[in-house]
Amino acid sequence: MSTADRDERPDKPEEACGVFAVLAPGQQVANLTYFGLYALQHRGQESAGIAVFNGDKVRLHKDMGLVSQVFDQDVLARMPGVLAVGHNRYSTTGSSRVCNAQPVVLMTRLGPFALAHNGNLVNAGELREAIAATDAELTSTTDSELIAFALQEAVNGGLGWKEAIRAAAGRCRGAFSLAIGTPGALFALRDGHGIRPLVFGSFGEDGDHHWVVSSESCGLDIIGATYLDEVAPGELVQFRAGDLEPERSRWSMQPTKLCVFEMIYFARPDSRFFGESLYSYRCRIGEVLARESAVEADLVIGVPDSGIPAAIGFSQASGIPFADGLIKNRYVGRTFIQPTQAMREAGIRVKLNPLPDVLSGKRIVVIDDSIVRGTTSRKLVAALREAGATEVHMRISSPPVTHPCFYGIDTDNQDQLIAARLSLQQIEAHLGVDSLAYLSKEGMVEAAHAASTNFCTACFDGKYPIEMEEEMRSSKLMLEPAGLAASL
Ligand code: SF4
Repeated sequence: MSTADRDERPDKPEEACGVFAVLAPGQQVANLTYFGLYALQHRGQESAGIAVFNGDKVRLHKDMGLVSQVFDQDVLARMPGVLAVGHNRYSTTGSSRVCNAQPVVLMTRLGPFALAHNGNLVNAGELREAIAATDAELTSTTDSELIAFALQEAVNGGLGWKEAIRAAAGRCRGAFSLAIGTPGALFALRDGHGIRPLVFGSFGEDGDHHWVVSSESCGLDIIGATYLDEVAPGELVQFRAGDLEPERSRWSMQPTKLCVFEMIYFARPDSRFFGESLYSYRCRIGEVLARESAVEADLVIGVPDSGIPAAIGFSQASGIPFADGLIKNRYVGRTFIQPTQAMREAGIRVKLNPLPDVLSGKRIVVIDDSIVRGTTSRKLVAALREAGATEVHMRISSPPVTHPCFYGIDTDNQDQLIAARLSLQQIEAHLGVDSLAYLSKEGMVEAAHAASTNFCTACFDGKYPIEMEEEMRSSKLMLEPAGLAASL
């Protein structure tokens, strides 16, 4: 890949997927799932799909594109039913093709099922070998299809749904938050470490009790459902129409390792984690950052949208006024035709435009949530100076990203992560800032008001909670010292 091509790619880690499911007899379950997926669009923009159960029959519609491009009212009207499972995808395992879109629908001796997966298996190679050795006809290159075939095998081997789901999950290693629809029940399951989030809620009046499962609570809010709880790490939850309580059981006991990047950046700020919105958490890490890395300046600005809450927190803790110094074009999607190298050199600014009348003559603190390769930050600093900022101090509301992710987030290989290659002073010089400081790992974790062992922080410290296949490890970890690799 050329440097120019690399520069075209987003300079942020990218979320893997969103899952949403609803069990609501008498309701327009396809439409409700459409809205749920719409709220979770930030988790995946490459493909979308919904499978609807009507008795023993299941109807599936999936395609490449945003939820609003894949579905229209005519398509949804042709999908009546009582239970729906939906999925937004961004490819981490398997290429971006429609055969890899989800949900995966397979038939068993007990009827069909539809499976939607958020996460990434780290034993996909081994599982693929085992599945390929059976009669299974793999039609995609995703790890999600492997989980589905493991479930099909368990059901056809004689197990009931619940036992079969446990058996299939037991063959998987890595991150997997699943929603599984069957003709009689909806299931939700999280891997033993709970790396990716998954929550459930309910809605309904006059004795109706409808169930909803969503990657984030913002998916519940959009359809007016009440948040009830998260699916706990290592938990399997079964929802049946008419039941007043779901049936909950643990299938795995592991230390919890929620992805801390969900808190910092991936999940929507209005989604709730640990009893509060992420907006509140992100404001708080801005406050911690201000205390840890104070600087004299005239104005605090945030890089929209994700840097704004931390910038507000930084401003409140430091007393330096907050202002909008950068305006974001919100309509730049993945399919947007990127400017050529020559256009970029000529100064074309597609996504962010600084406000010279706000910035001119000011010493600026600019807050961003993370630096991955540093390509965007460098251009941003140049643009702020061009707009008249006399000093640019960059503050990052996460620690330096030094390691790639193997659990469902698309990060660059380690040799492309700027903090893995350069010292703080070298990064300062590369970005052209007057000063640069990152949030400490302790500050990031303490601000969450949850025990530090509750988080995966591997992209900041290389402490991977789940061992992965060697081939997968060596494809991304280019700078890892042999000793550390052996100790994992
Ligand atoms: S490695 Fe980083 S991005 Fe991946 S799960 Fe852990 S904290 Fe999240």
